[in-house]
Amino acid sequence: MEEVIDKSLARKAYELIGSVHNVLLVGHPNPDGDCIGSTTAMRGFLTELGCNVKILVPTRIPEYLHFLYKEPILQYNPDPEGCIEKSRNTELVICMDFNKLSRIDNAAQLVEGLKVPRILIDHHLNPEAGEFDVLISKCDISSASEVAYWLMLEIMELYNNDIRSGKKQGKIMERLNMEISTSLYTGMMTDTNNFDNSVYPSTYIMASNLLSNGIDRDFIQWSIYNAYRENRVRLMGYLTGENMKIDYSLGASCMTLGSDIQQKYDFSDGDTEGMVNIPLTIKDVMISGFFTQYNDVIRVSLRSKGKYTVNGLAAKYFNGGGHPRAAGGRLYGIPFEKVEEYFFNSLREYISQMTTE
Ligand code: 5GP
Ligand code: MN
Repeated sequence: MEEVIDKSLARKAYELIGSVHNVLLVGHPNPDGDCIGSTTAMRGFLTELGCNVKILVPTRIPEYLHFLYKEPILQYNPDPEGCIEKSRNTELVICMDFNKLSRIDNAAQLVEGLKVPRILIDHHLNPEAGEFDVLISKCDISSASEVAYWLMLEIMELYNNDIRSGKKQGKIMERLNMEISTSLYTGMMTDTNNFDNSVYPSTYIMASNLLSNGIDRDFIQWSIYNAYRENRVRLMGYLTGENMKIDYSLGASCMTLGSDIQQKYDFSDGDTEGMVNIPLTIKDVMISGFFTQYNDVIRVSLRSKGKYTVNGLAAKYFNGGGHPRAAGGRLYGIPFEKVEEYFFNSLREYISQMTTE
């Protein structure tokens, strides 16, 4: 297989990392398995290289991901001042699983305030190249965790060569340890929706290597997919049974989770992870939209299958973006009762423009 990560980029990243001690890893809002998997793995890896590492995410980490870390993770909201104080000594920022600083909302202020080099490790289209000193970004790869995995192997080789030649003091790194491997596998597994999409030859090689490293695959699988609360399964019954609307003329489905239903089912972040995919199991549903009501914003999740893509739709109508078949965004100023109508109308317009272009 040809190399996944360009060796000269890996060297640049290695040299930057070797020139500092305090590193800040930054993830995206509403952190998912890939965001937490890739950052916790990178924290473990850089710690082995002798760095002092903190992780910062803009918003709360759902409970189902807490098994991935023991050391605390900084959460920018609602404590921006505290996070700025704790990350004051940062000498290098590594952004993971997002492609531009505007994606992390007000946490961008913290990153921009730090006048230090930045590395991007990501797998989204069109990264904002001007914002980063080293850009390690590939789209034909399952996840940021997979990008991180291949980068770590390159860096390990450079590091071990430096030890062997006496350029650096320390011990040869034989393999990625269990915590790092578990985080990387989890990030890849969740971003591929359990090996359902965005799976490439390199993805299976990574999975196979991590299994050989001795990770407990059953434990990871169980922790992510078999450890929900009862309310989540009941909520799924409501959403698919009573709430889901399908417009077969568009080949699209819409589910809306308002605050009244959230209360009824004792909803918390993470409970709806993966639910947007369910309507796509219906033969003629090609696009699925999922809308969650928050205080002043509606969170949008979009998925598609076959030849249909949704990242353009997310950018044009939902203030967002993402991958071709998994995208998201946010809506402001639209009453929640109107969101379904807005979704189907936007999609109708989007499809008609696509066919006339
Ligand atoms: P999810 O539906 O799982 O929240 O998000 C799916 C994908 O859409 C994410 O991996 C991310 O790439 C993208 N995405 C979600 N929310 C936003 C957003 O607010 N802005 C942008 N640019 N992308 C988003
Ligand atoms: Mn990702």
